[in-house]
Amino acid sequence: MAWQRIRGHDTLVEGFRRAVQRGRLAHAYLFTGPAGVGKRLFALELAKALLCEKAAEGSLQACDHCPSCVQVEASTHPDFFPAVRPPEALEFPIDLMRQLCASFALKSARGRGKVVLIDDADDLNEEAANCFLKTLEEPPPRSVLILIGSTPDRQLQTIVSRCQVIRFAPLASELVDELLQAQGIDDVALRARLVRLSAGSPGLAKELADPALWDFRRALLAGLTKTPVASVGLARQWIDFVEEAGKESAAQRRRAQLVLRLVIDFLDDALTLAMNGTPRRTEPDERPGLETLARRAGPDRLLEALERCLEADRQIDRRVQLVLVLEGLMDALGQKL
Ligand SMILES: [Zn+2]
Repeated sequence: MAWQRIRGHDTLVEGFRRAVQRGRLAHAYLFTGPAGVGKRLFALELAKALLCEKAAEGSLQACDHCPSCVQVEASTHPDFFPAVRPPEALEFPIDLMRQLCASFALKSARGRGKVVLIDDADDLNEEAANCFLKTLEEPPPRSVLILIGSTPDRQLQTIVSRCQVIRFAPLASELVDELLQAQGIDDVALRARLVRLSAGSPGLAKELADPALWDFRRALLAGLTKTPVASVGLARQWIDFVEEAGKESAAQRRRAQLVLRLVIDFLDDALTLAMNGTPRRTEPDERPGLETLARRAGPDRLLEALERCLEADRQIDRRVQLVLVLEGLMDALGQKL
């Protein structure tokens, strides 16, 4: 498979190919762009190509079969250090960063250099960044540090200035549609919806494709269009639904945020309708519900409801207890809608 599995980033692959050919690979890269567009997969492929035992000098083509390739895929290669922020931590742990930097400074076990991959570079604090920057002062030969973040302005300036920033763009709608189809999503209308909602992120589209999410969305929106809104009951249903995602709170938070995304989308369309515009993202069968909300709440309160949803999203990011977030949100929505 190798680079063929990286879709929509041909120019970036070509750029790295040329850099390797000319021996001009940088020691540190910051990959930025929306979540779910393939930054991590790209980094993994790059690591594989750099560490592959069969790759010719100056080539960026991993063989995909040698022990190195297999070990990079499995994250067991002695010269490959992938790290993510633990799901419950708000910042990238300094101890983990120190550990990574120490391993990076050691001699390459297989003689082809080292690759460190740090996910969640948005959450580096000053201390972790300093450790990282110190490591960059004397990088071992053929070694590469890759940071993955969302946007350069979420990173500390000291990091941005020392890394080569590689921007990953959202994928074209046709490509997202093709990828969804390849994953067995045959329903054309659902695919069109997912393509619109995911804004070029196949990863997000795939998450949103969960049929349970759409069933729950339908129930929630039906509840929100009734008067009076049964806030307490709806909050309970939402909490039950996120708890079905599993015991891990990261999975529950993610599910809560996906539902929130669908609610925001719906309210956004109701707002458009309330301002006499044409809603773009809602299917005809949902029009009566939208019209009810638009008429009943009006633009000002719909806008407040949307702002309240965004606040809930930020609270979830900050790890506020989900029960509190969802109860508070439904209570507010009940009053505004
Ligand atoms: Zn190989």
